Amino acid sequence: MAIAYIALGSNLGERAATLCGALTELNHVPGVRVEAISEFHETAPVGGPPGQPHYLNAAARLTVELSAEQLLDQLLATEATFGRTRQERWGPRTLDLDLLLYDEQLIDTEALTVPHPRMHERRFVLEPLAEIAPDARHPLLGRTVAELLAELDATDTQR
Ligand code: ATP
Ligand code: CA
Ligand code: CA
Repeated sequence: MAIAYIALGSNLGERAATLCGALTELNHVPGVRVEAISEFHETAPVGGPPGQPHYLNAAARLTVELSAEQLLDQLLATEATFGRTRQERWGPRTLDLDLLLYDEQLIDTEALTVPHPRMHERRFVLEPLAEIAPDARHPLLGRTVAELLAELDATDTQR
């Protein structure tokens, strides 16, 4: 059994219904349990094309009997269920599911990098994650989620 943290995001369609539906679908996958869900955060888009709609972002804790690669496959399948198509980088999407942490494993293959390589610099990831996992440790940076968020607060001028 492993503990995995995922980030959820949606900025097209019925955003809250999509996030809830995705969590329900994941909870029905054999070997996956959704154990905790953050609040849903309305956030301004970061990067990507100008003028895209605001996001609804959340984080969830899963216990899984799957490998990290198998879990990623499930996340991509659930994105497809909710109509995700991939066009321009960081463009608008009905659903984005990112694997943030998988126990304290370090993974770096062509298909999967864990911890997610941009999680520590993203307020829209760290704020929801800190609600459910302030003490989870980033195995590369050696800092907890709460510490990473505090460091972002200290350096972020765009607050
Ligand atoms: P970002 O990764 O900056 O958040 P994005 O979520 O928009 O950008 P996607 O187009 O959703 O990027 O993902 C492209 C590919 O990234 C996926 O098909 C997947 O194989 C790969 N990938 C690598 N590491 C991860 C991870 N930790 N979680 C999710 N996808 C990952
Ligand atoms: Ca993403
Ligand atoms: Ca993604």
